[in-house]
Amino acid sequence: MKATGDVTVVGAGPVGLLLATELALQGVRTTVLERLTTQADTIKAQMISGRTYQMLAMRGFGPAIDAASEAEAAGLAWRPTGATGHFAGLFKLDGLPLVMLTQQALERVLEARALELGVAIHRGVEVTSLDLGTDYVVGCDGGRSTVRKLAGFDFPGTDPTLTGYQAIVDLDGDLPRGWHQTPTGVYASGPLKGRIMTLEYDGPPTTREATRETLEASLRRVSGHDVRITAVHTATVWTDNTRQATTYRQGNVLLAGDAAHIHSPFGGQGLNLGLQDALNLGWKLATGDSSLIDTYTTERHPVAEHVLHNTMAQVALTRPDPHSRELYSLFRDLLDLPQVRDRVTAMVQGTDIRYDTGSEHPLAGTFVPGLDLSDGKGTSIALDGAEATVRPDGYISRITT
Ligand SMILES: Cc1cc2nc3c(=O)[nH]c(=O)nc-3n(C[C@H](O)[C@H](O)[C@H](O)COP(=O)(O)OP(=O)(O)OC[C@H]3O[C@@H](n4cnc5c(N)ncnc54)[C@H](O)[C@@H]3O)c2cc1C
Repeated sequence: MKATGDVTVVGAGPVGLLLATELALQGVRTTVLERLTTQADTIKAQMISGRTYQMLAMRGFGPAIDAASEAEAAGLAWRPTGATGHFAGLFKLDGLPLVMLTQQALERVLEARALELGVAIHRGVEVTSLDLGTDYVVGCDGGRSTVRKLAGFDFPGTDPTLTGYQAIVDLDGDLPRGWHQTPTGVYASGPLKGRIMTLEYDGPPTTREATRETLEASLRRVSGHDVRITAVHTATVWTDNTRQATTYRQGNVLLAGDAAHIHSPFGGQGLNLGLQDALNLGWKLATGDSSLIDTYTTERHPVAEHVLHNTMAQVALTRPDPHSRELYSLFRDLLDLPQVRDRVTAMVQGTDIRYDTGSEHPLAGTFVPGLDLSDGKGTSIALDGAEATVRPDGYISRITT
């Protein structure tokens, strides 16, 4: 088997940076091209799931993530205790705890490791064309991926239906903390100091700009509270178009993260999905084994499909019309049933992922938490009187009894 040649990763977001560290760990010469000259400070994800944390800890990122999370604790208006995430704003999930960490802090941890491993990161370089030789290119360039468009990947799905804002602001007036459904939409406040989120279901955004005036008007409409926004520190407009590339590979071009799949941020799944794409792809791509690289699509595409489905369901559940409110009440009660709660928790946290390894054994294709695979290699472990072969991404590929 011939190892792969050089790899170019387009995009220094969290997924591109993690993929670059994965490739470098395997000895692949890796270059990252990023159009921004400095890291974007736009507010996006503020936490990672327990499973993603376990996977990053497997690679030795635990102490750096813990330290970054602790350093950011002072920026929290309150500290959610035992938070395990939500489904459609129903904070009833009961699984691995979330780790509070802004996307920017995570990117800094990943970038530091990438540089340590010798990855070349070129900022201020926008990719506008693809000149394909024999080396691999991975588009980690986000939801509006240029790589995806240039390489002609199909990206079918549904159009946007709602307008969401998320921002860090200075607020004059009282706003109850946490997540709230109202007759006109949804709003949330915290846990980051000054963080607000609003959601209105009357069509897609008409502009990508979130001004002080639009944010304040939306917050007042949805919350019904007489609040004033006096300053905006960072803001994003978001929506719920839901799409996925039909394949993650076309020849030497691959996609990972938001470039491969987009959906609403309900349940905080997008970042986790992308980071786990990177952990699935890196070691496979490093081998240069074409059929192994193809298993990246066969394993990850169905995982993203589930996330696309469940985020669409969450949009439907949170709509403010009377019929959706009834559906929401019914679903809220169903979540009190342990079986339903466990199923939904596993779905949102990705702890139900089981890759098809061709083995009937119930543990084959599942993730093994707690291993040290910081050298990027797989291992063998004793498991219930059998021997399990663990892949470099921590999933069991074979069990011999
Ligand atoms: C409001 C909001 C809230 C969110 N909340 C959560 C949450 O709580 N939990 C969660 O898990 N996820 C959340 N997400 C989703 C999460 O932010 C994304 O899934 C994540 O950013 C995807 O990472 P990525 O690396 O694939 O893409 P991105 O973060 O978009 O990074 C892509 C990078 O590629 C660069 N780039 C783009 N085009 C080019 C080009 N042509 N040439 C060179 N570089 C290029 C960009 O500048 C960017 O740096 C949220 C998203 C939003 C918008």
